[in-house]
Amino acid sequence: MRYVIANWKMYPQKREDALRIFSDTVALTQRLSGIRVAICPPFVWLSLVAAAAKSLVWLGAQDAAWAAEGAFTGEISPAMLKNIGCKMVIVGHSERRESGDTDEIVAQKLAAAFEYRLKPILCVGERERDLSGGYLKVLRAQLESALRKIPKSELKLLVIAYEPVWAIGVRARGASTPEDFLEQSIYIRKILSTLTDTATALRVPILYGGSVDRENAAPFLDRGRAHGLLVGRESLDAKEFGKILLSAEAL
Ligand code: PEP
Repeated sequence: MRYVIANWKMYPQKREDALRIFSDTVALTQRLSGIRVAICPPFVWLSLVAAAAKSLVWLGAQDAAWAAEGAFTGEISPAMLKNIGCKMVIVGHSERRESGDTDEIVAQKLAAAFEYRLKPILCVGERERDLSGGYLKVLRAQLESALRKIPKSELKLLVIAYEPVWAIGVRARGASTPEDFLEQSIYIRKILSTLTDTATALRVPILYGGSVDRENAAPFLDRGRAHGLLVGRESLDAKEFGKILLSAEAL
């Protein structure tokens, strides 16, 4: 099963646009097979689109708190998300890490996602690509910190997205390559196997994210052997997102 995850980030501004993008995307998925499509809109649009989310499309959240409820002004809990029909949650996105989510907070949020049976998409990725290999230590630290306390039996729910920060969003300094993704995903799997065991590590899907578009989707899935894609900007244009979905289905 390939995963194609739409991360709408903090878009769109208007309710009617959210509904339109959502229903156009759902329409595109009706005839697809072998792909798990999930849409992660901003929290305020979640309930709105939840009513229309009967189909192959899963509803996901872009973040979730570390507790089910409590005096945490401004937070949204994984229990609430589960209750309105969410099946997935992005944890540790680089834009959340930039806003203050430390490795420790990411670990707590991940544990809570498991506890409330939301499928977590754990994002990892380095800010910079240095020639001395320091970025590999960053990746290792992110994975070890997030997964150290998660029981092995839970890991069958886990999805990892490798998103090099320098390749994400409008400020991207360059796109990654399928070959590079393949190398990093082998490294990630090696770390996973030290944290669990080889069989468990081999079962965890590793997705690529970072300026995915209709041109590079197929190469990342094919030459890069990604188990799926985490798509930001291009997921807000149902036509472009549809092309990415078709690439994923064709392979
Ligand atoms: C993302 O939001 O995770 C992402 C990869 O964004 P973009 O596709 O816009 O680079």
